[in-house]
Amino acid sequence: MTAKNMEELVALCKRRGFIFQSSEIYGGLQGVYDYGPLGVELKNNIKKSWWASIVYDRDDVEGLDASILTHQEVLKYSGHEDTFTDPLVDCKSCGERFRADQVPDYCKEDDLTEPRQFNLMFKTNVGPVEDGENFAYLRPETAQQIFTNFKNIIDATSRKPPFGIAQIGKAFRNEITPRNFIFRVREFEQMELEFFVKAGEDEKWHKYWVDERLDWWEKQGVNREHIELLEVAKDELAHYSKATVDLMYKFPHGVEELEGIANRTDFDLGSHSKNQNELRINAKTKENKRSNAKLAVQNEDKSWSVPYVIEPSAGVDRGFLAILNEAFVEEELKNGSKRVVLALKPHLAPIKAAVIPLKKNNEELVILAKKLKDELQNHRLGRVLLENTGNIGKSYRKHDEIGTPICITVDFDSLEKNTVTVRDRDTMEQETISIDDLSKKYCDSIL
Ligand code: ATP
Repeated sequence: MTAKNMEELVALCKRRGFIFQSSEIYGGLQGVYDYGPLGVELKNNIKKSWWASIVYDRDDVEGLDASILTHQEVLKYSGHEDTFTDPLVDCKSCGERFRADQVPDYCKEDDLTEPRQFNLMFKTNVGPVEDGENFAYLRPETAQQIFTNFKNIIDATSRKPPFGIAQIGKAFRNEITPRNFIFRVREFEQMELEFFVKAGEDEKWHKYWVDERLDWWEKQGVNREHIELLEVAKDELAHYSKATVDLMYKFPHGVEELEGIANRTDFDLGSHSKNQNELRINAKTKENKRSNAKLAVQNEDKSWSVPYVIEPSAGVDRGFLAILNEAFVEEELKNGSKRVVLALKPHLAPIKAAVIPLKKNNEELVILAKKLKDELQNHRLGRVLLENTGNIGKSYRKHDEIGTPICITVDFDSLEKNTVTVRDRDTMEQETISIDDLSKKYCDSIL
């Protein structure tokens, strides 16, 4: 099941502290959001799961955490200064500006100006002199610093293709019309892998990564039937791409891109490399006399070649939205009442377990509950919460709604018989088990 509409998700996010509009007390900054106490946990868990599958579970990927402030020349030679634009139109009737392909129905064609190209990159001044020359860009994608660090990383790790470099981090785009909650924002996070391969093996690896990524989304609870594969038409490909497959997810507002998997050929390393003429680069690159590094690998016969690169690029925020949407369940119970459950996969749940003393003013119960909480927390599963509101029913409802896989209730039997009651989020079934068996039984299943 999924949410009925975006409003349901927005309301849940605000009510329970997943996501807030940024600078809300001053009227809000458009296209920018803050992740609250539960949002930061879910977001971190999504990123952890991606990193584990891309870096730890494989033997052919290294990690990187590069800067957000980016040298102007990086984005000049990457092609972003010239081509990272969207067509902008003004509506003479309502006075608003729109991306040409996103004009709302209420604007008439005749009222629109001719589209002009608008560069989406944010610039910021560097150092004390504001003369317009000393500026850096806030990166519009994390990928570029992976390419500019290519030589550093192969020198440090002795890697040879096929191998990848992974990075998770913020990216910034001055979107003309940010909208649909966290779907299209001006500040967001990307999880990007640049996977370097030999030319000629690129198409095989492209297909491989599409399958891998589909498999990962499914493991995060995203129903395979809610993702369509879109082979991007040749005339719509980004300037660096030979072929791109977009994973199009059925968001509450419509089917749109969740992740793009591009074959970027030898464009990026070729663009940022010195001695381009000696390298037989296939892609059309800008002449580069500024780079001081040869971004190529040496073959057995001592010749040099520029690897091709396959790039799976996923948005953390769009992933968050998709995962939240997939997990959202509204259930009618036997007694006619309703409950909202976030059926998140346990490894993504913001709170792994809630420990609830039956009575909030009973010192013995509270002390034992706190002790249990500390013991479970020591397993480093993620966050375990001591929920001491004194109302069991309300506590269960809250934890259903935020996706906590199990609630552990400490009652008077706990003091006498050393047992607790464990309630399962999805089935609502309860079982009484010995405290000594608690971590053994549940730690693996809520990892
Ligand atoms: P769109 O066509 O929706 O603008 P894009 O094709 O420009 O997206 P890419 O450049 O391929 O996006 O970026 C890779 C991923 O980064 C996207 O699949 C998406 O998940 C995420 N992303 C891109 N732009 C935004 C944004 N403005 N807000 C949130 N996530 C974004």
